Amino acid sequence: MDKVFEEQLEKAGKFHGEICGGIVIGTKLAMYALEKMGMELNKKNKDLIVFVEIDRCMSDAVQAVTGCSMGKRSLKQMGYGKFAATFYNMSTGVAFRMTDVDANSKENRDETTEEMIERFKNTPNEELFYVQRVEIKLDENELPGKPKETVFCSICNEKVMDGKHKLIGGKTVCKSCSEESYYRII
Ligand SMILES: [Zn+2]
Ligand SMILES: [Zn+2]
Repeated sequence: MDKVFEEQLEKAGKFHGEICGGIVIGTKLAMYALEKMGMELNKKNKDLIVFVEIDRCMSDAVQAVTGCSMGKRSLKQMGYGKFAATFYNMSTGVAFRMTDVDANSKENRDETTEEMIERFKNTPNEELFYVQRVEIKLDENELPGKPKETVFCSICNEKVMDGKHKLIGGKTVCKSCSEESYYRII
């Protein structure tokens, strides 16, 4: 078990650039989740969709261990800023939301990454992570596979995939043109 953890930790560390605390948490969390889902490590789990709730270190480990990615549409970034991820089997509907117990404790642990790795090796998953059975509502535009809907924005004429546009006065408008933009043309 330790050897498998170390091998996954190394893979996640390579992907992230270093083995930090978040990588230790994310690796262990993703391994535990795959085990609960009855899915195998180092295999393509085509039915798996993962929702990560934070855009920090932990999520890189979840990506590296599960092989899910944004490009494959199997990794969804929810941006909640929380140390949590949900693992969803598209064909069975089974989903588990897992949260990191340490992160949600108000006490601060003073330990090095090495000490943390040792502690994670010797602590049962049930004590490290809190697991909830959840139901997932996923729009068909969010599914992996062929795009269901493609339109052109009536203002900028750029192509908008996957139903991400809005309908304003019966016209298709992209998010940028509908004043939701993160940028401003100068
Ligand atoms: Zn990091
Ligand atoms: Zn537009």
